[in-house]
Amino acid sequence: MIPARANGGSIRMKRNKITVIGAGNVGGTTAQRLAEKELGDVVLLDVYPDVAKGKALDLAESGPVYGYDGQIIGTDRYEEIRDSDIVIITSGLPRKPGMSRDELLSTNAGVVKSVTAQAVKSAPNAILIVVSNPLDAMTYVAYKVSRFPKQRVIGMAGALDSARFRAFIAMELSVSVENIQTLVLGGHGDTMVPLVRYTTVAGVPVADLMPKDRLEAIIQKTRDGGADIVKLLKTGSAYYAPSAAVTEMVEAIVRDKKKILPCAALCQGEYGFHDLFLGVPVKVGGGGVEEILEIKLAPEEMAGLKKSAEAVSELCRAVDKMI
Ligand code: NAD
Repeated sequence: MIPARANGGSIRMKRNKITVIGAGNVGGTTAQRLAEKELGDVVLLDVYPDVAKGKALDLAESGPVYGYDGQIIGTDRYEEIRDSDIVIITSGLPRKPGMSRDELLSTNAGVVKSVTAQAVKSAPNAILIVVSNPLDAMTYVAYKVSRFPKQRVIGMAGALDSARFRAFIAMELSVSVENIQTLVLGGHGDTMVPLVRYTTVAGVPVADLMPKDRLEAIIQKTRDGGADIVKLLKTGSAYYAPSAAVTEMVEAIVRDKKKILPCAALCQGEYGFHDLFLGVPVKVGGGGVEEILEIKLAPEEMAGLKKSAEAVSELCRAVDKMI
């Protein structure tokens, strides 16, 4: 909570204001998780105001049963997001079966450009968390359009990809997901880089606990994690784990946890990359991206990250012509 003005000698606390743009599957579920964790008042904004209003009302009515307070409103008016502390951008099309995230580029670049331009006018001091795909390129669009300092523009992908990797390892070994630590770096796509050397189960290197071919199968399953869900759902993409990962990032900011999470952050020299948003280990706290950690990578890990960076760069060059 952020202290507000003194009131009769005591400090009055005000709740954080968190805006979620896009009241679809990811946006609606994110609003639910934020409300349930009481991370702040929530504004759900969509081009379809009735959907946003309906979901907000439904969430507000869950509060008495679930035991949370806080204001939740739905709207299509940017005035209502005024002075938000955090703005989460989930607006845009999700994938259809057989589609790659990159195929969403031109449609979603237009959406992210337009919502960012409007959001930053009303919430000039917010931290932006981008979720729309293709993630790294959309985070770049939000950064360019907002002209915010790099610390206040973050993309959500690595927290999700790492959660998927952790879940699959836990299933394979039949251990608690809480025991698994990992980092998945790089772009949010087929070139993502799960770091096996930095993956442990209660501190034990994962490579010591399962045969190489099983581990390789799990890495592939992680890479295909999003596509497998699209294939099953047929009419949309994943949203429970994505909204959980966004909420983890919001919590790290709101509670100034200084949590190390893989996120898409602007690299300006880190890992040898320049002016590129890419999944790297980030210390996430009250200031947003407080630090990019430069961990030691083996030559093949660095080669994987470079390949991923090239794929993201290509998308950013294409998107540059659209913004
Ligand atoms: P969805 O179709 O359920 O919801 C998208 C919402 O955005 C809709 O309600 C739509 O009305 C709204 N919208 C569209 N244009 C808008 C605009 N200009 N202003 C305001 N709202 C607008 O889709 P979803 O499943 O919630 O996914 C949203 C996005 O997140 C997609 O691009 C998807 O690919 C992406 N995604 C990313 C990750 C990740 O790891 N980064 C994970 C899951 C989904």
